[in-house]
Amino acid sequence: MPELPEVEAARSLIEERALGRRIAEVDDADTYVCRPHAPGEIAGALVGATLTSAHRQGKTMWLATDRGPVLGLHLGMAGKIVIGDAEAGEPKPDGPVLQPQWDRFTVHFADGGTLILRDKRRLGRAVLDPVIDHLGPDAAEVTRGAFRERVGHGIAPLKARIMDQSVIAGVGNLLADEALWQARLSPVRPAGELDEEELDRLRNQIRATTRSAIRKGGVHTGEVIEHRRRDGVCPRCGAGMARATVGGRTTYWCPVEQT
Ligand SMILES: [Zn+2]
Repeated sequence: MPELPEVEAARSLIEERALGRRIAEVDDADTYVCRPHAPGEIAGALVGATLTSAHRQGKTMWLATDRGPVLGLHLGMAGKIVIGDAEAGEPKPDGPVLQPQWDRFTVHFADGGTLILRDKRRLGRAVLDPVIDHLGPDAAEVTRGAFRERVGHGIAPLKARIMDQSVIAGVGNLLADEALWQARLSPVRPAGELDEEELDRLRNQIRATTRSAIRKGGVHTGEVIEHRRRDGVCPRCGAGMARATVGGRTTYWCPVEQT
């Protein structure tokens, strides 16, 4: 599932390859992915415009245009962004990457290229002028003071607290397990019990884990991820990994070191 690092990779791809290209046509016919818009509504706002910048906060991404309307894109559980090159032309019908039945939303550029939201599970979104007020500060950018204040209170388990997108934005299930393991903090501890040193340590690990995953190509590159299984052992101390459902998500941690 795309987490913050995967969304950042998509944003960066758009920034490198899609900005400055004029939009000639938009396929917004999927009324589920494009809800609440009617077919043609997103197209009407974007055709003729040029993408000028690509932004991200947590797992939400939005693209500004020179005409005002903003295009919000969310990758959902399985979505990815594919940019078709003008030079390469349209993807070949028999090519390995063409999966048109999974193309939920497509921007066609005047130069012949495309920007596609490809999503097997159809849980991604394309929306005009997305509302982002409900999102907390980005997990990779949040300041020490804001992190202490937003994360360090309440009785919710620590993992649920850091995955609450209104508290900080961008931490998903795997990123949470990796950062908590790196910080040696238990996912089930009430968030309000942490002292400032522990909160600072967790913030540092969330930032480090996120940056490492962006650099290495995804959350799956974390050190503890492959040990998240029933017979998994902690790669640091060799203890059997503990497993429980925390905040509605399957959670693995080292019961010896994560206190
Ligand atoms: Zn351990």
